[in-house]
Amino acid sequence: MAPQSSPFLSIVIPIYNEEENIPTLWARLDRVLAEHFATPERSWEVIFTDDGSRDRSLQLLIALAANEPRIQVVEFNRNYGQHSAIFGAFAEVRGRVIVTLDADLQNPPEEIPKLVAKVDEGYDVVGGWRQGRQDNDSFFRTMPSKIVNAVTRKTTGVVLHDYGCMLRAYSREVVDAMLLCKERSSFIPALANSFAKRITEVPVAHAERSAGTSKYGVWKLINLQFDLLTSFSLLPLQMLSVFGVVTAVFGFLLFLGLVIYRFLHPEGTAQGVFTLFAILFFFVGCQFIAFGLLGEYIGRIYQEVRDRPRYMVKKVHRAE
Ligand code: UDP
Ligand code: MG
Repeated sequence: MAPQSSPFLSIVIPIYNEEENIPTLWARLDRVLAEHFATPERSWEVIFTDDGSRDRSLQLLIALAANEPRIQVVEFNRNYGQHSAIFGAFAEVRGRVIVTLDADLQNPPEEIPKLVAKVDEGYDVVGGWRQGRQDNDSFFRTMPSKIVNAVTRKTTGVVLHDYGCMLRAYSREVVDAMLLCKERSSFIPALANSFAKRITEVPVAHAERSAGTSKYGVWKLINLQFDLLTSFSLLPLQMLSVFGVVTAVFGFLLFLGLVIYRFLHPEGTAQGVFTLFAILFFFVGCQFIAFGLLGEYIGRIYQEVRDRPRYMVKKVHRAE
């Protein structure tokens, strides 16, 4: 049986050394798909990306694909990271609704119909919001996520609870827009939000990793946080200017205060040290304003270099 021309649902799963999880993952996914997406108008495909696994993951995936024409496997030549792996699969998807999922069964496949239903309602991006988060992976795994969620909420203005959950559904348009972005380091949930009109979240269950260990070491995580922070805002750079202005104003006010004090108490002792402080603050402030200004240019260069599509036209309406 040849793959259908264009399925309704595309499921994208990045795989990096997940040999223990693949059989269970597929068993559970297959059950959900057979139950909810069996009709021709709700057809499906699954695209796995093997992100340079060193175990038997790739062989297992190829064996799955051999028995099921609706499964495709994108093989990377080495490990490029989860988000690149998802992009690799995005390039192949043909469905109208795209769902991403982790392979370790922390995101239960049983939640997929819930997300798809939201896209049916007209949402462009549907995020999973993990309930009762199971992070056996230490402080280093949960703490950065919390900070990132808070910063992201502030900078994007989109109030979502959980940017880290990769169980998410996207409309075709949003995925197409993401594929047009040329940048190398991107954080998919944040990128998706920047192209979406209607965004929502649904609570999803969260389990412990079913087997194997988290593929994120501390360093990979730090890197990811920076990707997220820089991938859609120049806020860190702009903070430099803000800091500069505040310091310079403080220095100036201190100076003004000293002058007034001098007039009120002409006989008072000399305030030499304070005068120096005032001057110092003022100049340090000016320096930071200059850093900020430089940063602003660099930030703009960065945005240009990323070459993101400036807009996506959904439809041009005109009288026939
Ligand atoms: N993953 C990947 N490439 C990587 C790291 C992870 O494709 O370099 C996949 C991994 O196989 C899993 C998903 O991304 O399907 C999430 O990884 P993990 O569970 O280790 O992340 P965590 O749950 O700790 O955030
Ligand atoms: Mg995981």
